[in-house]
Amino acid sequence: MFANPTLLEKYSKPGPRYTSYPTAPHFSEQFGNTEWLEELQATQHSGRDLSLYTHIPFCDTLCYYCGCNMVATRNYQRATQYLGLLEQEIDRIARLTAPERNVRQLHWGGGTPTFLLPDDIRRLASHLRQRFNFADDAEIGCEMDPRELTREHVLALVESGFNRLSLGVQDLDSDVQKTVNRVQPEAMIRDVNGWMRELGVASINMDLMVGLPGQTVARFSHTLDRVIDMSPDRLAIFSYAHVPWMKKNQKLIPEDQLPDLHTRIALQQLILERLSAAGYVYIGMDHYAKPDDELVRAQRNKTLYRNFQGYTTHKNCDIYAFGVSAISQTDHVYVQNAKHLPTWQTRAANELTIERGLRISHEDRLRRDAILRIMCDMELDLSALSADWQIDANQHFSTALQELLPMQDDGLVEINQSVIRVTETGRLFLRNIAMCFDAYLHSTPATGETPRYSRTL
Ligand code: SF4
Repeated sequence: MFANPTLLEKYSKPGPRYTSYPTAPHFSEQFGNTEWLEELQATQHSGRDLSLYTHIPFCDTLCYYCGCNMVATRNYQRATQYLGLLEQEIDRIARLTAPERNVRQLHWGGGTPTFLLPDDIRRLASHLRQRFNFADDAEIGCEMDPRELTREHVLALVESGFNRLSLGVQDLDSDVQKTVNRVQPEAMIRDVNGWMRELGVASINMDLMVGLPGQTVARFSHTLDRVIDMSPDRLAIFSYAHVPWMKKNQKLIPEDQLPDLHTRIALQQLILERLSAAGYVYIGMDHYAKPDDELVRAQRNKTLYRNFQGYTTHKNCDIYAFGVSAISQTDHVYVQNAKHLPTWQTRAANELTIERGLRISHEDRLRRDAILRIMCDMELDLSALSADWQIDANQHFSTALQELLPMQDDGLVEINQSVIRVTETGRLFLRNIAMCFDAYLHSTPATGETPRYSRTL
């Protein structure tokens, strides 16, 4: 895959990551508990499989680059109190779920789920299993922070059925780690990697971050070598999104040490070249996997899907999400829980915690389908889309097709008859390509606030 620096510069602009369409800034506060309750009741017996998400917002310390909904604390009492409320929220939703519906996927994110003590990991996992019907081959994943993590934590996860563990590595360079307030020596990461292998974790993912202050091609090259040596099954290499107007903690990032555009471009080149040489396949949107990984197989078979947790092999699941700021979805609805922890806590003690949501229109679902096919299949067959949605897709998306023409000239897409195919180069610009199908991109949400997205590179 060749990425021309001129193209990278040309297409580096703010854009959504499309973990949903319409994107979260377009959710409305008019859609709350009442509407979500109606949707849960209406879809209770839909038979659709389930994907569960649980948000644990606590972290021991604050990483300056953090973009998550989290609370830094050393007071474990806060987690104990949170768990009690989380269980109430889980029970409330479980009562509205037909027992025969299968859970295909469970993911714990944060914050830091492994902030929980091993016994509490067991307690929460067991609570979920008692309330929902897990498929035998369910994918059960958890994000882990290597600092403060013990073998006991990993053992508790494995014994609770977790088979996909994801380790936050970010960068192994000690100067970069100090600058972003996340010091975790390589030996610590290797210990955790060793425990996961010893305990037979089926799939190991490592998260890296590119674009952090102090990163250079030479330093990150060393990090990549060390990480490849640990041989994770999957790698997610996210671009740091510097949005200090939205994330106040990012004001602690020394802006004068952020890599400039040319360094960021060189870092992207490095990642592509180094990981391809090591045998990893680029899925899209910062995700890489070994060739025999099921994400790669699903992409080949056109069964890959994308949701709030990123790429997944499970299409057509309703997502029930628990905890502060967590986002749920059915085929027609998105909802987000209260984002402010005290608000979520007050509400979770008594009722559902929905803060905003959206019932999506037929047109939204059609456009979501088009965007998902681009992000997951790397191609969009307009004839198939026409048949599926009973439209003339060439005409329906004539504006998008016009917008794609310069991208075709730049070699990002090939348009043959009615098939739009993303080229190898175009895989780096998936967001830009998908943006052509986004009807909301230039509209202001009901809140009146113009969404401010991170840059596509
Ligand atoms: S561990 Fe993760 S969630 Fe917690 S502060 Fe660091 S980046 Fe944010």
